[in-house]
Parts: sequence; C-alpha cells; structure tokens
Amino acid sequence: MALLVQKFGGTSVGSVERINAVADRLVKHQKAGDQVVVVVSAMSGETNRLVALANEISEQPTAREMDVLLSTGEQVTIALLSMALHQRGVDAISMTGSQVRILTDSAFSKARIKSIDEQTIHQHLDNNQIVVVAGFQGVDEQGNITTLGRGGSDTTAVALAAAINADECQIYTDVDGVYTTDPRVEPKARRMEKITFEEMLELASLGSKVLQIRSVEFAGKYNVPLRVLSSFEDGPGTLITIDNEDVMEQPLISGIAFSRDEAKLTMVGVPDIPGVASRILGPISAQNIEVDMIVQNIGSDQTTDFTFTVSKGEFAKAKRVLDQLCAELGAREVIGDDEIAKVSLVGVGMRSHAGVASKMFDALAAESINIQMISTSEIKISVVVALKYCELAVRALHSAFALDESTS
Ligand code: ASP
Ligand code: MG
Repeated sequence: MALLVQKFGGTSVGSVERINAVADRLVKHQKAGDQVVVVVSAMSGETNRLVALANEISEQPTAREMDVLLSTGEQVTIALLSMALHQRGVDAISMTGSQVRILTDSAFSKARIKSIDEQTIHQHLDNNQIVVVAGFQGVDEQGNITTLGRGGSDTTAVALAAAINADECQIYTDVDGVYTTDPRVEPKARRMEKITFEEMLELASLGSKVLQIRSVEFAGKYNVPLRVLSSFEDGPGTLITIDNEDVMEQPLISGIAFSRDEAKLTMVGVPDIPGVASRILGPISAQNIEVDMIVQNIGSDQTTDFTFTVSKGEFAKAKRVLDQLCAELGAREVIGDDEIAKVSLVGVGMRSHAGVASKMFDALAAESINIQMISTSEIKISVVVALKYCELAVRALHSAFALDESTS
C-alpha cells in the first residue's frame, strides 16, 4: 500500500474515452490498497482554445481575468473524472485549487505556491475517497484565482506530493519515460530506468517535452521521488530521484541533450586589459539577451578573442550590439555564426570517472566533426559543432558511450 499522487496530462484526459481509461486505472490502484490523490490538466487543446478566445475579445486581457478563464479547463476535467469514478462505484471528490487551499502569491499567470493545506486531503483519503485536484491553479490571500504558468499541473502534483508526504509523484503522459536522447534523432535511444534530479535538469531539452522543468526543481528541493510514465500502456517509466551515490550502479553517461537553437558571436582582437569582458557582456545583458557558453583565449599580442553563444532568436540583436561596441573597444572585427548546435553529455557518473571528455572528443574526431567550443561542469560536457553535424554527433556519442538499445 502506498500514498501516491498521480498526475494526468492533457492528452491523457483528452476525451471521454481517455477519462474513462484513467478512471479504470485509478480503480485498480484503489483495489490494490493505495491511497491516491489525482491531479489533472485541462483536456488537450483546451487551454490554448481559451487563450485564443480571450485574444479575440481583447488584445490585452487583464492577468486576473485571464487566470479566471484558464483555470476553468481543469475544473471541467476534475468534475468529469470524479463522475467517471462514481460510475465505477468508487467514492471520489473533486477539488479546485482554492478548495484544497493551494495558497500562492498574486503573480497572475506565473504564481508561486506558498503553502498547501494537507489536512482536508488527508481527511478525504482517510474516508477512502480518491481526491481529484485541479492542476495549474491556486488562490491568493485575497481569494483571487491564480495559475502557475503553462504546464503548471506538474508543479501542482509535485507540491501536493511534498505537502502530503507521498511515497511517489507519478506523472502520466503520452510517452513511456525519459529517453537517453531524442528518439527522432537516434532510433536506438533507450528509456532510462532511473535518473537523478540534477541530471534531469541538465537534460531539460529532452525532458521538457515530458514535464515542466520547474516541477523537477521543486521535486529535487523537497526530495519527492518523481516518476514519468505512460497512461496509454503499462510499464515502469523513468524514476527521477536523488543521487544514491552508489557509484557501481551509475552509468558513466545518462543521456545526450542537444540544441539547434544556438548562435555564436566572436569579437576578434579585443585589447587584453581588465574590464573588457564586462564591457562586452554588460550591453548584451542590458538588452535582456541571455548568454550561454563563454570562451576567452589568453592573448598573445596584447589582444584576445572573446566568444559567446546566445539563442538563435537573439543572434541579430546581439550582433548589432557587438558591431557597435567593436569600434568603441578598439577591437578588430565581429564574426557571427548561427549555423551551430550544442551537444551535451550528462551523467553523475562523470564525477567519479576520468577520461569522459577525451572519449567524447575521440568519438567526434572519428567522424571528422570539428569542435568549436567546449564547456564543462561537474556532471556535463557540452560542445558546439556545426549545425549540419548535430545529428551525427548525437548518434556517434550515443554509441560511443554504449547507450544504444542493443548494447544495454
Ligand atoms: N492546462 C495548462 C496548460 O495547458 C496546465 C497544464 O496542462 O499543466 O498549460
Ligand atoms: Mg502538460
């Protein structure tokens, strides 16, 4: 017997048929003696439909009314799912965020949870009821309805699991887990059995299609074991949990993330004097441009080359800022390249193993892929390569680190 929070996303409750399937699944858990709190999203497409409606009425709907509107999607699903459970002879009760008392701040459309009253939920559970909670919504001190940001039902589920001290928070979705890399790029990608919170955060580009990354941060902070699994088929899914420090069990590399949304800028021949980095990046951040990797060489002729990456969408803007700075700083020229990709190896096993980087560079060299930039952290090594080599690099690394399906 376990105390579980189970969250079902939009596609999992996207039709009457799917809602009935969820109800069947819940009945099984209850028969097995589990206590279950269910969190549901709006039916798939519903939140987008509501956003579009609002935009037809007003170009700038107020944030408060927007939250009143968007929260209705989840209210539909809690009622329908509870009815489906009643239909199966199971006692269930639907609850809005406000009825649970999921107290948030008043930042409409991106509210943060301050506290959750777990008393009422426990009372219902003790009465053998399945508690069906609307995801994505809360209430502020003044009683206003708030929402937690798109994809926020995952955060509701994790926060509830933390509050009631659940054994596990299970995120049911339309894929059967988190994969070693994107299966569309590497068909031999494998479902990971287990991964740490840290790794999941570093693999955000793979995981963000599966669950809201903010919910992983939350789960890590409160140490809530999080499991991603399919509502369409049975299977163990992927467990996201704390680092058990059992080095023997840890694979060297857990997964390979990549991003094609990258661009690179280099200021060539910058005078090598104190304060230059800040004079380059200051105006960049003043334009709200986020910088990712940064590389600066040791200068040989009193000048240095300064390179950094930004997202592709900010490339033109960043280039304009640098072009203007170039003369001011007495630098030689600005070179830009938006045909690049970032490929990252992620694994907590790296901490206890040397040689991961050289193995990575060997594998890329064997495919004649030129590495343009490198950055490392304790559990991640990222390289920038030409965009056209992105997929080849991912596949070469996937097999070099024995992540392929057949080799496991
Ligand atoms: N219904 C909300 C959205 O579409 C929240 C969620 O699905 O998690 O963003
Ligand atoms: Mg979602």
